[in-house]
Amino acid sequence: MIVVRTVAELRAALSPRRDGTIGLVPTMGALHEGHATLLRAARAADDTVVMSIFVNPTQFNEQADLAAYPRTEAADLDLAEAEGVDVVFAPDAAEVYPRAFATTVTVSGPIAETLEGAERGRGHFDGVATVVTKLLLASLPDHAYFGAKDAQQVAVIRRFVADLGIPVKVVVCPTSRDADGLARSSRNTRLSPHERSQALAIPRALDAVRDAAAGGLSGTGALQARAVAELEAAGIHPEYVAFVDPETFAPVAAVEGPVLVAIAARVGTTRLIDNTVIGGA
Ligand code: AMP
Repeated sequence: MIVVRTVAELRAALSPRRDGTIGLVPTMGALHEGHATLLRAARAADDTVVMSIFVNPTQFNEQADLAAYPRTEAADLDLAEAEGVDVVFAPDAAEVYPRAFATTVTVSGPIAETLEGAERGRGHFDGVATVVTKLLLASLPDHAYFGAKDAQQVAVIRRFVADLGIPVKVVVCPTSRDADGLARSSRNTRLSPHERSQALAIPRALDAVRDAAAGGLSGTGALQARAVAELEAAGIHPEYVAFVDPETFAPVAAVEGPVLVAIAARVGTTRLIDNTVIGGA
């Protein structure tokens, strides 16, 4: 495994490997088992696996959140090596955003402007779209791997990849969960033991919605009430419990096809998100 810090070094490392396929797994580091599932999917499908580590400042709306974001590069490199990563691209901010940088990739409409886009500010998905575009152009992979846990991020990435005609296949891996059901996240380490048990109401709320929908309840207002009741019982006041079209993020009133159920909530000071798809294909 080699570690490179510049785009020039990355291109030089990949150029002799372009006779086979290249898979890119973008991350912000602080790697956990959820990231490992993406690395394994890439390792199984691609001849060369590239993982990027970059805590992208432009997608953070709160400076405190950016400052508090865990940085664990030595452990991340160990995990990457153990998962068979070939090339780690770990640039600094000046490499990604050189002096006079002035270009932004903006996805418009409900995909980028509602839910996470509304809560975290317009700039969040601009930051994500711009940095992922740069990572794709720097590595020109055949496949790029993302987690279903960040469903809105996936929708935004699919949108600009299609709109800009970027020649990459976006591969979405299922949300990896701890044994108790909590979606794995770098932020989970910030939860106290009490907060962690409170946080379990989030996957419980998604289960309650799935069960109610499977039992024939189709109005999303009633389904939302089930989820909110589950959360409130644990003392969690959600930022949103949303029922939207998984591709456009337009709100859905009744479950008549696939519906993305997305939850965001603060537990203590830690902001968590989770989601599931109901309504089948
Ligand atoms: P991050 O380092 O948080 O930016 O995440 C890097 C990638 O890993 C993103 O595509 C995430 O969606 C994905 N990811 C993070 N947590 C999980 C998880 N629990 N299950 C599946 N994918 C995940």
